[in-house]
Amino acid sequence: MSNSEEIQQRAVTEHLFAQMRWMPVLALIPLTVIALVLWQHAPSLQILLWLGFMALGEMVLLLVTRMPINERAGTWQSSLRLFAGMQLVLALGWSSVLFWFLDYLHPWQIASIAIVLMAVAAAGLNSLSWHWPTYAVSLMVLLVPVGSVLIFNYDDFLLHSLGVMAFLMLPLAGYVSRREYLERIVLVMAEADKVELTSTLQQRSHELSRMRKQLKTLKDTDSLTGLISGERWKSQFVETYINQQNSERIAIFFVDIRHFRKINQRWGTLVGDRVILEVAGHLVAFVDHQNVCHLSADEFVFSAPVKNEQAAIELAQGLARYLRLPIQLGLEGVSIHPEPAIGIALYPDHSTDIDTLLDYAALANHHCKGKYSSKAYSLFSAEIANATRRYIDLEMGLKQAIAKRELELLYQPQVELQTGAIIGAEALLRWHSSTLGAVSPVEFIPVAENSGLILQIGDWVLEQACATLARWQKQFGPGVHLAVNVSAMQLTARDFAERLARHLERHGCDSRGLHVEITESAIMDNPELAMRVLKKLRLMGVGTALDDFGTGYSSLSYLKDMEIDYLKLDRSFISNVNTSPKDRAITESVIHMAKAIGLKLVAEGIETEEIGNALCAMGCDYGQGWLYGRPMHERSLVSMLIGPELPGSQAPGSVPAAGEGR
Ligand code: C2E
Ligand code: MG
Ligand code: MG
Repeated sequence: MSNSEEIQQRAVTEHLFAQMRWMPVLALIPLTVIALVLWQHAPSLQILLWLGFMALGEMVLLLVTRMPINERAGTWQSSLRLFAGMQLVLALGWSSVLFWFLDYLHPWQIASIAIVLMAVAAAGLNSLSWHWPTYAVSLMVLLVPVGSVLIFNYDDFLLHSLGVMAFLMLPLAGYVSRREYLERIVLVMAEADKVELTSTLQQRSHELSRMRKQLKTLKDTDSLTGLISGERWKSQFVETYINQQNSERIAIFFVDIRHFRKINQRWGTLVGDRVILEVAGHLVAFVDHQNVCHLSADEFVFSAPVKNEQAAIELAQGLARYLRLPIQLGLEGVSIHPEPAIGIALYPDHSTDIDTLLDYAALANHHCKGKYSSKAYSLFSAEIANATRRYIDLEMGLKQAIAKRELELLYQPQVELQTGAIIGAEALLRWHSSTLGAVSPVEFIPVAENSGLILQIGDWVLEQACATLARWQKQFGPGVHLAVNVSAMQLTARDFAERLARHLERHGCDSRGLHVEITESAIMDNPELAMRVLKKLRLMGVGTALDDFGTGYSSLSYLKDMEIDYLKLDRSFISNVNTSPKDRAITESVIHMAKAIGLKLVAEGIETEEIGNALCAMGCDYGQGWLYGRPMHERSLVSMLIGPELPGSQAPGSVPAAGEGR
C-alpha cells in the first residue's frame, strides 16, 4: 500500500470512529426516559427484554468505539459496514421502545418522548453529517407514529400499521445515511489527500526556506573562518561609502601570506587552515569583525578610513608586525613564520568602483610578492599595475610555452684560459613567446620560479641538455661538458637527482660531462637540503658549479663543506677588473681562495681580450663571455668545437673532464 493510501485510510477510520464516540452518550438519553417511565408503571418481562436488547446494542457499540483503530477495521469499507450495522441496531431499539410505550403512556408524554427520541435518532442516524435527505427520512420515521397518536388520539390499529411502515423505512434511512456517508467518505478522502498534499507542500516549503537560509548564510559567510564573504563585503562597502557618495578616503587592504602554497605542501592542509585561522584572528583583532572578508585560501580583504597614503602605509606596517608573529605548530617546537603581503588601493583616489578597487589592491599585493620586493606592503600605482599585468601575462604565457614549442636552448662556449680551447658550453634558455615576443630569462625565470612552473620548464631543459650532451659526447668524446642552470626549487624538489639520473640514462650520457649550476642564493634558501642533493649529484658523477659567486650571501663556512667543483665569479667583478683596483683585488683573492680549497674558477662575462688576458695572468682556470662567443645555436657551437683550436677535436681525451676540477 502506498503512503498516501495509508494516510487516506487512517483519516477515514479516524473520522468514522470520532463520530461514533458520541453514540453511547446519545443512547443515555432514551435510557433515562425509559427509567422515568418504568418508575411510573410496573415493570414487566417485556420491558426487561427490550431493555436488555438496548443495553446489548449499546455495549457492542461501546466496545467497538473503545477498540484501537487499527484493530477495529482493516479498510474503510469494513468500518462503514460496522457503523451502519450499529446504527440499525440503535434505530431498531428506538422504534421498538416507542411502539411498546404507546400502549402505556399519555399522548403528551409520548409526544415529548418522541421529540427527544426524534432528535436522538436523527443525531444517531446522521451522526456523520446533518445532510438534509437523511434528516428528513429520520424525521418521518418518528413523526409518523407520533403524529398519528396526536391526530387520531390513539388508534391501536392505525398506530401499529404506521409503526410497521416506519419500521420498514428504517433500512431506507440507513441506506440514505450510508449513501450520504459514502459521499462523506469521498470528501474525507479528498480532504485527506488535500491535507497530505498541503502538509507535504508545507513541509517542503519549510525545508526550502530553511535551505535558502542556510545557503544565504553559506554565501554570506566563510565556513572556515566565519568571516563574511567577498560578495557581502563588497555590497557593504558599496552601501556604506559609494552609495552615500562619501568623500572620506578609504584604504582597501588585500592581505595574503607569501608562499602559502609551500606551507600547505610542506605541512599539509590542516596546518594551512591553522595559518588561515591565525591570520583571520589577527585581522579581526585589528579591525571590526564585519569589515574583514575571507576571499579564498589565504586571501583577506578589509577597509579602513585613512587621512592620506602615508596613514594607509603605516596601518599596513602595523598589521604586518602582527601577522609576522610566529605560529606554533605544537610539533616538537616547530613554528611557522608567516610573511604577509599587503596590497593597498585608495577610494576614491584610485577608483570609485569596488571591483576595480579590489583588482588594484590585488595587483599591489601581487607586486609586493614579486621576486625582488621584500616589503610587506605595496601601494597601488600605474607603474605597479603595468609591471604586475606584465608579470601575469608572462606567467600565463609560460604555462603554454613548452606545449607551444616556444622554448629553446642556446649554448655559450666556455674556454680554458691558458690554452684558449673550448671545453664545453653553458646551456641558456630562450623564450620566443607568440604573444609577447622574445623574453629574456632575466625576466621570465623569476616568474617561472615564483609560479612553480620552473619545475616543469627546468625538467624540459635538463632533458634537452642531456640529449645535446649525448650527441656531443658521441662526436667529441667524454671530455666535452655542458653546464645547465638549475633553480633552488628544482634542486630541492623531492626527486631531482633521480629524475636527472633517468634523463642521463635515457640519452646514454656520461654523467661527468654534465655540470649543474646553482646560484648562491638558491643554496642559501635551504643549505642543508641543497648540500645533501649536491652530494648525491657528486656521487652520480655530475659536476657542480656555484653560479654568480659574489652577488649572493653565501657564507664561507658553507663553501668549505659544499660539494662543488667550480666557482663562477660574477660578471660584475670581471668587467671592471682592469679599471677598478677593488674589483681586481676581489677577483685575485677569490682566485687564490678557490685554488686553496681545491675549486676551479670560471670567470663570467669576459667581453674583451684585455680582461681575458688579465684573468689568465691571475691564474683563473676557465672563462666565458662574448669574447669567446655569445649564446648560440647548437650547430654553431658544434662547428666551434670542431674548429682547429679545440684540443678535443684532435684528441678528445685532452679536454679536461668534468670531474677533473674536483
Ligand atoms: P647566468 O647563468 O649567470 O648566465 C650568464 C648570463 O650572462 C647569460 O644571460 C649570458 O647571456 C650572459 N652573458 C654571458 N657572457 C656575457 C658577456 O660577456 N657580457 C654580458 N653582458 N652578458 C654575458 P642570459 O642568457 O640572459 O641568462 C640570464 C640568467 O638566466 C642566467 O644567468 C641564469 O641565471 C638564468 N637562466 C638562463 N637559462 C636558465 C635555465 O635554463 N634555467 C635556469 N634556472 N636559469 C636560467
Ligand atoms: Mg649560469
Ligand atoms: Mg652567472
